[in-house]
Amino acid sequence: MDIRNRRAAGWIVLVGLLLTATAALGETIRRNLGEGQVAALVDGKHLHLEAPPLRGEGLLAFTRRLTGTDEAARAVSQANRRPRRLLSGVRYRVPYEVLTPDLQLKVIGAMFPEPQRRSDAWSVKIPGSFRDLSLWTLSEWLTGTGTHFQEIGTFNRMNRDYGLVPGQVVLIPKHLLLPTFQAALPAPPQEPQAQIADGQSPQGEPTLDDEPDDEPPPVALPPGAPLGASPDHRLTFDSDASGNYAVYRLERGDALYSAVVVRFIGAVRAKEVNQLAKELADLNGIRDVTDMPVGQPVRIPFDMLLPEFLPTNDPRRQEWEKNRAASAQYSNTVRASRLEGITVILDAGHGGEDSGTNHQGTWESVYVYDVMLRAKSLLEAATAADVITTTIDDAKGFSVLDRDELPRSRRHRVLTHPPYPIRDARVSAHLRWYLANSRHRKAVKTSRDSAKTVFLSIHADSLHHSLRGAMVYVPSTSLTKGTFGKSGSVYSSRREVKERPRVSFSWKERTRSEGLSRQLATKLLSSFKRHSLAVHREKPIRDRIIRCRRCRPFVPAVVRYNEVPTKLLLEICNMNNPNDRALLRTKAFRQRVATAIVDGILDYYGQPALPKPVQVADSP
Ligand SMILES: [Zn+2]
Repeated sequence: MDIRNRRAAGWIVLVGLLLTATAALGETIRRNLGEGQVAALVDGKHLHLEAPPLRGEGLLAFTRRLTGTDEAARAVSQANRRPRRLLSGVRYRVPYEVLTPDLQLKVIGAMFPEPQRRSDAWSVKIPGSFRDLSLWTLSEWLTGTGTHFQEIGTFNRMNRDYGLVPGQVVLIPKHLLLPTFQAALPAPPQEPQAQIADGQSPQGEPTLDDEPDDEPPPVALPPGAPLGASPDHRLTFDSDASGNYAVYRLERGDALYSAVVVRFIGAVRAKEVNQLAKELADLNGIRDVTDMPVGQPVRIPFDMLLPEFLPTNDPRRQEWEKNRAASAQYSNTVRASRLEGITVILDAGHGGEDSGTNHQGTWESVYVYDVMLRAKSLLEAATAADVITTTIDDAKGFSVLDRDELPRSRRHRVLTHPPYPIRDARVSAHLRWYLANSRHRKAVKTSRDSAKTVFLSIHADSLHHSLRGAMVYVPSTSLTKGTFGKSGSVYSSRREVKERPRVSFSWKERTRSEGLSRQLATKLLSSFKRHSLAVHREKPIRDRIIRCRRCRPFVPAVVRYNEVPTKLLLEICNMNNPNDRALLRTKAFRQRVATAIVDGILDYYGQPALPKPVQVADSP
C-alpha cells in the first residue's frame, strides 16, 4: 500500500466512524419549508434551519437575513464548523434559538403538525419519528426556557416522568408562550355571527367546536408534599419516586374492575373498564386478576382517582368540593300543581342511522324511543305540562306500540326547522341541544322562570356486564366552562342554530345547573327504587364520563351545551347485562320506567305520584 492509498484508507475509516457516530446519536429529521430551506432536528434536541445563501451572500449578510442581527454570526459560524466562505447551492445551519421569530414559527409549524387551533394554548402533536424529544426541549422552543416543563406537564395532566410519546398531543398554555407564538393563536371568539359566517374549514368540518376552558385544570399535589386526610376509610395514601398514590386493600369477593376501577376511577363502559383494570394490574405487578388474595394492596395513582377520593388538601379535590358546595346551595323552589306551566323536553337518544347500543338486533334507539313515548303519553294524560320531543320516528309517529319486541326503524328525525333525518350521530346530538335551547327560550318568555323547564335525554347504555340498573349524568360545574358553537351548513341552515349559534355559561349558571340537575336526578332515582327498578349501587349520579387515564373527562354534548338549567342524561338500564337486556324487551318494564320518570318529575315540583294503575292510550 503506497502512502496515497494509506491516506485514502484513513479517510474512509474516519468517514465511517463519523457516520457510525451520527447513527448512534440518532437520525436527523428534516421537513421541507420551500425555497430551498429545510427545518432539521438532530438527536431529538438540536433544531436548525438549513438554508442556502443568496448569490454572493457572505456569512454576515446571511446571518442578518435569517436572524435579524449580526450578533448571531458567531453562533451560525460555529454551527457550520466555521466556513471560510459560503458556497452557493449548499445549505448552512442556523440554530433555532437565533432565528427571527417568523422563521421560528415556520420551523415549529413544519416540525409539529398542529392538531387543533385553540385560543388559549399552542397544541403540538409529537410525530411518530420523534423518539428522543424531551418536554424540556419542547418547552425551550416554545416558551424560551426549559424550566416551564413542569407547568406544561401539569397543564396536560402528564405523568411524573414527563415523557413524550409519538402521537401525544401537548398543549402549551398561552401565558407561557414566546410572544410570536402567543400572537399566532386565534383570537378568542366574541362576535358569534361574524365567526360563524366563515367558520367553515377546508374539509367542511366544523371549526368552532369546543372552545377551550377559561382556566387551566388545578395543579396536582407534588410527590413528597404532606398528604391530607382520606375522605374514604377504604383508602390510605402514600408516595414514592413515581408520585402519589392511594392504596386499597382487596376485600372478600372483590374484583379489580368493580372494587377499584368502577368505584374509585369512575369508568363504567365495558371496554374502558377492562383497559383500566389491565393498566392497574400492570402498575401493581398483578399477573392474574382472577387470583388475588384478600388484603392484597392495590396502588391507584392520584391522576387516576376521581376527585372525591383524593386527600382533602389536593387541589383537584378542593376544586371539586368548592363546586359541590356551591351547587348544593341551589334547589328547586317551584311548586306546580299538575305541572301547570312546566315544560318537559323529552329526548330519546340516537335514532335514524344511529342505532346506539346494538345487542343481537336489539337497538337502543328503538327501545328508548318507546320509553320516551310512554312518558310523553303519561304526562299528557295525567298532567298539564307542555311536552316537547326532540325527535320523531316517521315509521310510527307518536303512537305507543302495545308489544314487547319492537320493529327496527331508521326513520327518526330531529325536529329542528327544517328537520334533520338522522344520518350522523354527532350532528344529531348537537342539533338536539340547539332545539332544546330554542324551545326553552320560548318557554321562559311565558313562564318567566328557567326552573320551569326540564330536559331529559333517555338512553340505555352498554356498560361492564357486572353493572345493573339506572344511572344519571348531570353537568359538572368544572367541565362546562367555555364558549361553544357549531358551524357548517348542516347547522347554519337550521332556524334554531341561527337564533343563537353559540352558548356559554357563567360560573353561577353552571353551579346552579349542577345543583338543580342533581336534585332532579336524586328524585328520579328514588322514584326508580320505589317502582322496584334497579339503580347502580356505586355512584348512580355521575357528573362526567371517564374514558381512559390520560383522556380528559367530559359531559355528554346534549347536556353540556344545553341551556335548560335542569338537565339530565338518564341511562335506564345496562344493555350489556343479560337481565337488564331481557327486561328492556318487555313493554311492562318500559311502562314502569316511564311511570318512574314522570313520578320523579312530579316529585321535583312537589307533587304527589301518579295514581295507580295508569292507563296508557295504546294505539289500536
Ligand atoms: Zn345511548
